[in-house]
Amino acid sequence: MSSLSGEKARLRASTGANLEAGKPFGKRGARDNAPEMRICVLDQGRGREFFRLDDEGQATAFEGSPFEGGAPGARRVRWAPPELRVPVAPSKILCVGRNYAAHARELGNEVPSEPLFFLTPPSSLVGPGEAVRLPPASARVEHEAELGIVIGRRARRVSPEDALSHVLGYTCVCDVTARDLQRKDVQFTRAKGFDTFCPTGPWIETELDPSDLEIRCLVNGELRQKGRTAQMVFPAARLLSLMSHVMTLEPGDLLVTGTPEGVGPLSHGDALVVAIEGIGSLQIRVERDP
Ligand code: ZN
Repeated sequence: MSSLSGEKARLRASTGANLEAGKPFGKRGARDNAPEMRICVLDQGRGREFFRLDDEGQATAFEGSPFEGGAPGARRVRWAPPELRVPVAPSKILCVGRNYAAHARELGNEVPSEPLFFLTPPSSLVGPGEAVRLPPASARVEHEAELGIVIGRRARRVSPEDALSHVLGYTCVCDVTARDLQRKDVQFTRAKGFDTFCPTGPWIETELDPSDLEIRCLVNGELRQKGRTAQMVFPAARLLSLMSHVMTLEPGDLLVTGTPEGVGPLSHGDALVVAIEGIGSLQIRVERDP
């Protein structure tokens, strides 16, 4: 027990610190020639704009969208965490269920022999500092902390070896689920598709090896989920390749890669944190939707 308390204290310290600018950026990944960048969306009173986060609380505005060949330009600003917005605007959000064996078991499911894909609508996205709203239609809404993959270059029928070269970067996602409705329905559309059920952010980390990252979920400072992406049944490159054989993945699309064990309920007033090694932490409030 004492080691878990120590772990919680360490997490509380680290999740707070991760929102500060100027921290050392993520580990270098496989694409060592690519620039290491944190790309975020800030609203500084001019609407939503893409920025690269720099050291010392500074950010550099993009000229054009990073999904249309845009790059950081000359305009530099100071930024503050309350200005962060959801960093993606995907044409689709493609998710996978039961991609961690221990999580499949905790819900009484078999591990599938092929990935269980489903779509969730872009209208479910919310960003840092926003709230998940618990709909009156569900009596049991749960958190699922997951690694999000943001596509940078169109991908159609790509091989697992080539798949990650189509990725712009990685972000934190909570695949919020109305568990009672999921058990009732054949498809996951209603259970996963409510407005605000896809918190994503706080930014896109461009240079990261996704193969073995720690994923944690905390609710009110309590550690609920802890796993490693190495435990995925279908690893990121394989998932992306398999998905791209079903539908063309467009720049900006968000792939959500499944959750480790420890899913549990969310209640009005909860403070939800999804923290992923090398990315940072996404902090979201939970509120009743009257
Ligand atoms: Zn999920």
